Amino acid sequence: MSGSPVLRPVKLKREGDQLVIDWSDGIRTAVTWQTLRQQCPCAACQEQRAKPPDPFRVLSPRELAAGAPSPVQMLPRGYYAYQIIWNDGHDTGIYTLENLRKMSQVVSSASTAKSSS
Ligand SMILES: [Zn+2]
Repeated sequence: MSGSPVLRPVKLKREGDQLVIDWSDGIRTAVTWQTLRQQCPCAACQEQRAKPPDPFRVLSPRELAAGAPSPVQMLPRGYYAYQIIWNDGHDTGIYTLENLRKMSQVVSSASTAKSSS
């Protein structure tokens, strides 16, 4: 219970094509679902990204049908992560809070007036 405060989301909301998060340190961040989908941390996607791009790769019918990546569900996984289930059926990505924060852009900060200690 003691020690440094853990950074956690106070509020998560879906705003169009973005995930907007209010963090416990007063920072608000936003990240597009597309970015989250592209940066999926699961082993299969990491492997996919490690490969050189394939110019002949075609989208699977499922990907084409799904269009822009969009979350179907976002489930808490323990205290530190969220699992995102995508409209293309992909559901193995577990996004830690740390990852979500890193992938997001800061859009506003409540700590401009006061200094944090
Ligand atoms: Zn993945």
